[in-house]
Amino acid sequence: MTQITQQFASDNYAGICPEALAAMQEANQGYVPAYGEDIWTTRAADTFRTLFEKDCDVFFAFNGTAANALALASLCQSYNSVICSAQAHVETDECGAPEFFSNGSKLLTVPTQGGKLTPDAIRALATGRTDIHFPKPRAVTITQPTETGQIYTLAEIQAISAVCRELGLHLHMDGARFANACAALGCSPADMTWKSGVDVLCFGGTKNGMAVGEAILFFDRTLAEGFDYRCKQAGQLASKMRFLAAPWIGVLESGAWLRNGQAANAAAAHLAQQITALEGLELMFPVEANAVFLKAPPALLDGLREKGWRFYTFIGGGARFMFAWDADLAQVDTLASDIKTLHAAL
Ligand SMILES: *Cc1c(COP(=O)(O)O)cnc(C)c1O
Repeated sequence: MTQITQQFASDNYAGICPEALAAMQEANQGYVPAYGEDIWTTRAADTFRTLFEKDCDVFFAFNGTAANALALASLCQSYNSVICSAQAHVETDECGAPEFFSNGSKLLTVPTQGGKLTPDAIRALATGRTDIHFPKPRAVTITQPTETGQIYTLAEIQAISAVCRELGLHLHMDGARFANACAALGCSPADMTWKSGVDVLCFGGTKNGMAVGEAILFFDRTLAEGFDYRCKQAGQLASKMRFLAAPWIGVLESGAWLRNGQAANAAAAHLAQQITALEGLELMFPVEANAVFLKAPPALLDGLREKGWRFYTFIGGGARFMFAWDADLAQVDTLASDIKTLHAAL
């Protein structure tokens, strides 16, 4: 068995980054008002407004499923529908939460390459049926980066938002790994979102190095009406809100959010670079963020498991390696070397 100190099955296997933990510790002083009426929550929201260069409405939820589902619900009536990729987390990994919290708004899925929607696919779906029997499309959701680690360029986001505007659709971004996308493109959070026509963003804190928590940002503030009630009703209003808010201050003010994304992406690139030339192995998707999907013979994947490595194979039977904010390049080297050893023995 290989000496394994980090597993790359998921970026959620990692712990809390020092900046987030220190901020929680700092907030753990004395008594402050509950339910978000405290200084930490105000400061966290203001920090988002500064980072995004926008006077947006900011909310905090416990996880990404709730953030996505409630954000989409706020964009739709129950008879509306949401256009998404067939690979989208909202479709495949949220147990129907978007439909549940919207009282029935249907997800309309599109087969996609690497999880990326296109303006043409959105237009075709949104205009294909206009009769009363079909749930009227009202929103589009894109995942940035996608579930398989692809990045929409700013031009691609802008082209999608142009179609959305033309067809009266709101644009939501599932940014569970938003920091990885900003790191990959080297663009500002503002450019990635409202300046490119995104109306609502779910910004992932958990996969960015926090213990728990996602932020929901409404750049179009009219869409946030009643969202506080929606969160409360859904069991997403933290009474000790300061501990959900403070870690954001820690990662945003220190710049750790971006450094964490960069480090995770670098670890993925580091693995990809070492195994890309091995004959008979295949990277299933271009490595653009913090994910590597490896297609390899079953004997090799079994061998990795025997050496103690953990990974998921839910996409096309390939092994998914997902790197976190503190992925250790020496551990990545160990994984690469195990892959090379097993490859040589095939
Ligand atoms: C992890 C993830 C989420 C959030 O998942 P939770 O387990 O509900 O926090 C949302 N979207 C994508 C693309 C994800 O990878």
